[in-house]
Amino acid sequence: MESLSPAQPPAASEARCPAHPQKPVLGACARCGTFFCEYDRETVNGKDYCDTCAEHPDVDYLEAFRLKYWGKRDAWTWLVGFGAVFNFFAGAIILANELVNKDTGNTGLLLGLIALVGSGVGVCFWMGMPFARLALCFVPIASLFVSGFVAGAEAVGRGIWPVIITFVMYNNTRNKLFFKEEVSREALQKAWHLYSNNTVARAGFMLSFLSLLIGVLAPISLLCSIIGLRRVNPTATPPVGRKGQAIAGIVISSVSLVGWGTFFGATLLKMLLR
Ligand SMILES: [Zn+2]
Ligand SMILES: [Zn+2]
Repeated sequence: MESLSPAQPPAASEARCPAHPQKPVLGACARCGTFFCEYDRETVNGKDYCDTCAEHPDVDYLEAFRLKYWGKRDAWTWLVGFGAVFNFFAGAIILANELVNKDTGNTGLLLGLIALVGSGVGVCFWMGMPFARLALCFVPIASLFVSGFVAGAEAVGRGIWPVIITFVMYNNTRNKLFFKEEVSREALQKAWHLYSNNTVARAGFMLSFLSLLIGVLAPISLLCSIIGLRRVNPTATPPVGRKGQAIAGIVISSVSLVGWGTFFGATLLKMLLR
């Protein structure tokens, strides 16, 4: 701080921070243009902002995305909830059958118990109890183990899918947010891209493939893709991407539109000339 002694007059070109006059300006906020110094500069997603703008949901859109889904049930959770109800009845039926007939040995008893325990874990999962997130992964593994001993390789082939699905769910960012698990910025970025980045362009792109089979969808997918393309703005906060998908959607929709248009036109002409 020796260099800033009162004897030394400040350089004319050296602007001072409006909030901290003792500090030189380092730059201007990318959102509102206010000058900032080292005290109020905040870097978010690679851009510099003033400290007020840095907390704005448009700027820290990943944080806004995180808060939006924090503690909120996702589709997976509802699936587990419904699965728990199903498992409860399945387990009860298996157990009742076992107790009445007593002809399948202890395996049926064990599978019925696994279904009931799985149902309980599923309910805890639906309620967002932290232990249930990992515990649920063991339910299909346990039933795979037991059924594998009884029915052999065929049952293992069928039972492997629930194991894979629970593993995918365990690693799903939206589901982690429901359980209020910390998620990396990278994972947030990926989830944001999937759920929030130019959803119109994404819908248009996906519908355009469907329009090749169902011609009436072509105008809708074309419209979505055009709107999506117009929205693309990589430098906005938050950025709007999916330019490639929007262009591909326009091309595929146009092909579908021309193809189905020719088909319907020809059919109509045939009918009129008959
Ligand atoms: Zn600002
Ligand atoms: Zn300042």
